[in-house]
Amino acid sequence: MEKKEQDSSLTYERKNFWKEAPKADQEAAMDYATGYKNFLNEAKTERESVKWIVNELKKHKFVELGGEKGSKKVYGIFRGKTMAIAVLGSEPIVNGFNMVASHIDTPRVDLKQNPLFEDGPSQMLCAQTHYYGGIKKYQWVSTPLALHGVVIKADGSTVEINIGEKEDDPVFVIPDLLPHLARKQQMGKTIGEAISASHMKLIFSGKVEPEAEVKQAAKVYALEILNELYGIKEADFLSAELYLVPAGKARDAGIDRSMVLAYGQDDRSCAYTSLTALLANLDAKPKRTMIAYFSDKEEVGSQGATGAHSVFIQDFVSDLMEHNGECNSSANLRKAFINSQILSADVAAAINPNYPGVHEKQNAVIFNHGIGISKFTGAGGKSSCNDADAEFTAKVIKIFNEADVLWQMGSLGKVDEGGGGTIAYILANLGAKVIDCGVGLMGMHSLYELSSKADVYSTFKAYKAFLTSD
Ligand code: MN
Ligand code: MN
Repeated sequence: MEKKEQDSSLTYERKNFWKEAPKADQEAAMDYATGYKNFLNEAKTERESVKWIVNELKKHKFVELGGEKGSKKVYGIFRGKTMAIAVLGSEPIVNGFNMVASHIDTPRVDLKQNPLFEDGPSQMLCAQTHYYGGIKKYQWVSTPLALHGVVIKADGSTVEINIGEKEDDPVFVIPDLLPHLARKQQMGKTIGEAISASHMKLIFSGKVEPEAEVKQAAKVYALEILNELYGIKEADFLSAELYLVPAGKARDAGIDRSMVLAYGQDDRSCAYTSLTALLANLDAKPKRTMIAYFSDKEEVGSQGATGAHSVFIQDFVSDLMEHNGECNSSANLRKAFINSQILSADVAAAINPNYPGVHEKQNAVIFNHGIGISKFTGAGGKSSCNDADAEFTAKVIKIFNEADVLWQMGSLGKVDEGGGGTIAYILANLGAKVIDCGVGLMGMHSLYELSSKADVYSTFKAYKAFLTSD
């Protein structure tokens, strides 16, 4: 019997970027990472992200929605923590828009509202903390931390705090227990129990005010410094939002520099790629209005005024319709969302060589193979999932293929291994077609997450193609 030639068009295989992508794309991917790292360094909180993005928008002559009439490039900010950007298309918004929706909050450790106390046994000034989002607490001890946030003073003025990022800034630390004495406290416990929230007291300072009669001499000494630097008092902490984040910069990783190691790539990899994708489309003149949405509070369930559950994004689209000279009645606003297509831009879990067993390899994201598409998220029997329909999933794949974007399918992990969610279902509840897709990370939610420059660049290309699609 004659040997039959294998018809490769019948089978599916994902492609390795460094093998299959054109040389120009490979170079562009390496260059693109420079701007990406800058963003990661300068925007470590949602407020800093909003400011950074607005700064970029001003360079491109965007105006705030509700201001100058007639501009096709507008943005809206809500409470300083969430925002949306739009570039108007040639067709009415009621016919549907194209949106890429990411989040700009990140797991971190917050200071409690009344944080400072003098610790008796150690005689140090410490700060009580309260973690935010899904962290593994053991990672946050004995590592340099920077303090970011805002303090609103009694007179209503805002003081921005950023300590620990400059080369000569001091940093903060939550000291871990030495192994010599950890046998009972830590070593026999599970990794989740070894460090509890009450073991996350931050060392704030150590010097004392030398005046003999001063009570709480360590606290007074630190408050004198804070008052001199920022004009704040202890009572100002009560309303403040102060976050501890890993100090230090995004770095190239690997001998080939093909990766980025940095804090907060969940989800700022998708925020940056969606912003730059929108900006790269300014001359595109698409039919559909392009929107990039940056939500807050995703890491704690997307609730509240600035989370994706908030009315903000609907209000933004409503104002946008008015700005575009369209009737923004409740029915029209509903139709606009129902006719829209949205990429829920969030990171995926890439296969980690240390723990390949948590994934089902054929349906997991692997580094260097492009943007990861997740038809559904959730846990167990697809519980709480958004499930993009087959039609929309196929359409997104077609858009990516036509733009020569490398992509791969990726579910979060093996069925019953765990699970997670994104903001996809929230926007899908408004009737829009929504699918998850974003950059695959190793070490997601750790202090330093790892990404592939090939995947970050592929994600940029994917969002760019999607935003201008019909
Ligand atoms: Mn995320
Ligand atoms: Mn996350």
